[in-house]
Amino acid sequence: MKTNVWKVDKYVDNLESNPQIVDAAQVLRQNEVVALPTETVYGLGGNAKNDEAVSKIFAAKGRPVDNPLIIHIAEQNQLNEFVAEVPRKASLLIETFWPGPLTIILKIKEGILSDKATAGLGTVGVRMPDHPVALALLKACGLPIAAPSANSSGKPSPTTAQHVLEDLEGKIAGIVDGGPTGVGVESTVLDCTEDIPVILRPGAVTKEQLEEVVGEVRVDRALTETDLKPKAPGMKYQHYAPNAPLYLVAGSHAFLQQLVKDKQQEGLRVGVLTTEESVNDYQADVVLACGTRAEPETVAASLYGVLRNFNHEKVDIIFSEMFSNSGVGHAIMNRLQKAAGNKLIQE
Ligand code: AMP
Ligand code: MG
Repeated sequence: MKTNVWKVDKYVDNLESNPQIVDAAQVLRQNEVVALPTETVYGLGGNAKNDEAVSKIFAAKGRPVDNPLIIHIAEQNQLNEFVAEVPRKASLLIETFWPGPLTIILKIKEGILSDKATAGLGTVGVRMPDHPVALALLKACGLPIAAPSANSSGKPSPTTAQHVLEDLEGKIAGIVDGGPTGVGVESTVLDCTEDIPVILRPGAVTKEQLEEVVGEVRVDRALTETDLKPKAPGMKYQHYAPNAPLYLVAGSHAFLQQLVKDKQQEGLRVGVLTTEESVNDYQADVVLACGTRAEPETVAASLYGVLRNFNHEKVDIIFSEMFSNSGVGHAIMNRLQKAAGNKLIQE
């Protein structure tokens, strides 16, 4: 299949009637799948009401079928079509954070969405993306759009159209190229089906920000206790992994440098993941900086691109510094731990 690329300038007015958007929306209405930019990462969109479209998403990504998709909407009133109820706390969060990187899990109204999109769970994850191109496309097609990240399952999520093409060219009908995404890590997934909301996946909206609006918020214990089953089916899979094995290193830069030296002596091509502050602390084959520690948002924004660059550099092994677990650092560490398959070396 030829993958069409629609280039769209996200800053132009009246995006909804932009011919590229109109064209892409038409392809979505024909139940084909189309990658689109959001403020977090690129998503792979398809008509959430149609089994055939949803099956194409799973097939293109090679995604396990028990892993439900997040449904994207452009207007709040679209919720009533497929959600059974919106509890008060969920309403407050929607008012505060939408459009934005917060996915809310709600009870479903049966029979509207494809069961394949929701993995038959009886609940659905919904969000309204804060990106002019995504919103215009959603409005132009007038459908709830199921959209997981537009990468091959298990790989780092795409933050540019080029990343999407690397993984999915020839497997999807098209991609709307709206430039690089902003946040760089996926949305926070929050279960609002119980009285006290539970974070199932940390993301750009932090626990502290949520608690300011609705009081106590819990974190799914399975995120830290590896013997428990996560409530978000997707969190049990290895994810975001570069091709080479990645090790998190808790220790000094000198300790990490010694690990590099040892592996180089074994003849391996070694990569180091650090930040701009510390690039000169390492002599490795490939040293890549992931933003600056002073601004954790910059680390989130460049994390997946850097993981993909290690693939381009064809390293044999990667050692990564650790990051603080607070604020957006919670999401950064969650993704790095997954990318590392929880491999940790302590000094
Ligand atoms: P992705 O779309 O690839 O960013 O992944 C979406 C994440 O949300 C996965 O970890 C899913 O398992 C999770 N998710 C989606 N819908 C639900 C749901 N109804 N209940 C629990 N987790 C969900
Ligand atoms: Mg994903």
